[in-house]
Amino acid sequence: MSNLQKGPLYLTNTLTRKKEEFIPLRPPHVGLYVCGPTVYSDVHLGNVRTFTTFDLLYRWLMHLGYKVRYVRNITDVGHLVGDVDEGEDKIAKRARLEQLEPMEIVQKYTNGFHDVMRLFNVLSPSIEPTATGHLIEQIEMVKRIIESGYGYEANGSVYFDVPKYAQKHAYGELSGRKIDELITNTRDTEGMDEKRSPLDFAIWKRAEAQHLMKWPSPWGEGFPGWHLECSAMSTKYLGQTFDIHGGGMDLKFPHHECEIAQSVAADGHAPVRYWMHGNMLTVNGRKMAKSEGNGFTPEELLTGNHKLLEKGYSAMTVRFFMLQCHYASTLDFSNAAMQASEKGLERLMAAMGTLEKLRPATNADPGQDEAVRGLAQRCHTAMNDDLNSPVMIAELFEAVRLINSANDGKVALGATAIEELRSLMNAMVFDVLGLRTEAAAAGDDTALDGLVQEFIRMRAEAKARKDFAASDRVRDQLAALGIVLKDTKEGTTWQRA
Ligand SMILES: [Zn+2]
Repeated sequence: MSNLQKGPLYLTNTLTRKKEEFIPLRPPHVGLYVCGPTVYSDVHLGNVRTFTTFDLLYRWLMHLGYKVRYVRNITDVGHLVGDVDEGEDKIAKRARLEQLEPMEIVQKYTNGFHDVMRLFNVLSPSIEPTATGHLIEQIEMVKRIIESGYGYEANGSVYFDVPKYAQKHAYGELSGRKIDELITNTRDTEGMDEKRSPLDFAIWKRAEAQHLMKWPSPWGEGFPGWHLECSAMSTKYLGQTFDIHGGGMDLKFPHHECEIAQSVAADGHAPVRYWMHGNMLTVNGRKMAKSEGNGFTPEELLTGNHKLLEKGYSAMTVRFFMLQCHYASTLDFSNAAMQASEKGLERLMAAMGTLEKLRPATNADPGQDEAVRGLAQRCHTAMNDDLNSPVMIAELFEAVRLINSANDGKVALGATAIEELRSLMNAMVFDVLGLRTEAAAAGDDTALDGLVQEFIRMRAEAKARKDFAASDRVRDQLAALGIVLKDTKEGTTWQRA
């Protein structure tokens, strides 16, 4: 790919609502911040889509040669039920319900989140900071906001003065909301005995005596407001102004709007140069939500154990399905669409295998070198056009046709064409799209498979001589190691528990 024109990258900046050329502040470095999960329950598929979107961005930036510092936080305090300023902390509530320490809840769901990310081959960020690990930075930021005159203390809580900020700054510019409309539409009376305006939001909250998660501060015992952690941690690791901030569409308001206001108030700079928002996942045309009964977990998706699922789908099928849609469009989940993706992925992976075995034709057609170069160029152009992965994938299927024709002897590819095709396909399929063969997705289990097959044979022998105690022992020992055997008509298969 050496003589490939990499060209400029264009991204849709949700702040300006325009597709803009991406120019990093300090090339070749890129600072990327993405709002991570609140770890109080299992991640749902909508979250997986958001993190897959920014995984694609991270991978593409690296493919273009940038050195990316990718920060994705873990919200482990301060996110209140209903996403507002009153009510119980989501984690503390779950801790009470499950009768666990809040930090046990945080650990349990952080582990679960990491497992799911690994399953979907979402790369780990460079830094994964937690809100509770950055209390000092958050308290310092509250102090700076008070000093600049945009924060005020009331009864042990500190609020951000939105109307005062809006006199000088464009509050609402990211979400397109107007301050007067916000005032007329706010019926909230929460915290109104303390707030000067219903638009004000808490940057520090006083903790009641029975509150589980609280820290000392200049304003008494309390905890940070939900929006504050992202401002404090992005500033700490990426600087007061950095390149890209991403998150789900639902975070635009109030969360990201408040992040901008906090940074401008505390440090006098707009924090982010390019804002990017991933769109939602719907199910059969309806928003995915627990109350709709269509908010299935990744686990239900893989096993097919949900009334809306005709069968289970592999994590790579789901990932491929997500990447076949542009990140800024809504994506509708249906069994028909999933099955189409499953077939498509199989075809793509089969062609990857064929390509490995392809040998140069003796009567090579030099015109095909140019055809392959054209394919590579179009893949790059598509990805540089606001990460247009569906168009890039369509080009990959052009490559699949070429590979299959070469394999059938209908097209004669020379050594150069095959070499460049391999380099293109490996880069796009594995590095950029982050797809894996199902065997690799099972955890690089080739060596393990050999061992387990040996145990399966031992168990079959024990069964054959009617030594059921021995055959059960083999099964139980494997189960203790997290390997589950399944007897089918075709024989015994295994999978990780
Ligand atoms: Zn955030």
